[in-house]
Amino acid sequence: MQVPARFEYERADSVPHALELLARYGPEARIVAGGHSLIPMMKLRLAQPEALIDINGLAELGRIAVEGDELAIGALVRHAELLDSTTATDLFPIFRDAERVIADPIVRNRGTVGGSLCQGDPSEDLSAVFSALRARAVIQGAGGQRTVPIRDFHHGPYETAVGPGELLVQLRVPITAGTGSAYEKVERRVGDWPVAAAGAVVTVRDGVIARAGIGLTAVGAEHFCAPEAESYLEGRPPGEEAFAQAGRIAAEHCDPHADQRGPADYKRHLAAELTRRALATAAERI
Ligand SMILES: Cc1cc2nc3c(=O)[nH]c(=O)nc-3n(C[C@H](O)[C@H](O)[C@H](O)COP(=O)(O)OP(=O)(O)OC[C@H]3O[C@@H](n4cnc5c(N)ncnc54)[C@H](O)[C@@H]3O)c2cc1C
Repeated sequence: MQVPARFEYERADSVPHALELLARYGPEARIVAGGHSLIPMMKLRLAQPEALIDINGLAELGRIAVEGDELAIGALVRHAELLDSTTATDLFPIFRDAERVIADPIVRNRGTVGGSLCQGDPSEDLSAVFSALRARAVIQGAGGQRTVPIRDFHHGPYETAVGPGELLVQLRVPITAGTGSAYEKVERRVGDWPVAAAGAVVTVRDGVIARAGIGLTAVGAEHFCAPEAESYLEGRPPGEEAFAQAGRIAAEHCDPHADQRGPADYKRHLAAELTRRALATAAERI
């Protein structure tokens, strides 16, 4: 049986308390949210934090609400709660598409939005979703809050903008009229991580694409996005040919690696095809 190394355990009762505990235990302390990524890593001794700061009691991080022209999603919102939130999924059906195919109900009942983003796994579905949506991440530390565009949030595999002594507290998604969104994923079997996946957010004004957001995961796309394909689309009328070409451009700028989920060429092919499909569905949903 695999067991983690010895660690201290503290349960935070507020965000300031969590920050105080992080400061007290120093850089070897880790936040635990759903624990679905961290605990397996601890059991395998890939992570050996000296202290776990449990934030599961922080109700203030579990809210989903429209605030002005943004949708605010707390870092502790569970995958299952995001899937069940009509506030979120009516505005952004991309959340429903993605959350239905993230892991299985057991993981979705516990795993959190914040944990997914902070884990920084190159195959994380929500990283591509929030990148397509051009969300902003709200990070809190001893000096107060700061906001980071999601496309600057991931600094590389398993590395994020959340520094020692800081906590991701919220994601903020801009709400724009005339927008549709969708997510397309290929997995080897139900509940698996993606072989490849693409998210699309399309805003149409006066018959042309005013803004496009394309998120890609598991295909080595820098910052989980496809800026060249987005630029190609902006100013063009939505349509099958434009979406297919955007898919080809997105795939050209990916850097997929062969692994147990498939060869690089297959993943590149999926990047193009899933981008095309997600764009078409997003445009239909406007
Ligand atoms: C069997 C299985 C299948 C899965 N399949 C998929 C899949 O198909 N697609 C997919 O995207 N994901 C998948 N996952 C991952 C799942 O989404 C996890 O829930 C997620 O990666 C981590 O969320 P968590 O809340 O459990 O984080 P935890 O494991 O608690 O934490 C993960 C990391 O984030 C840090 N952290 C957590 N919250 C915060 C915060 N608020 N501020 C700062 N740091 C924080 C922790 O310190 C830790 O380093 C799967 C997981 C399992 C176990």
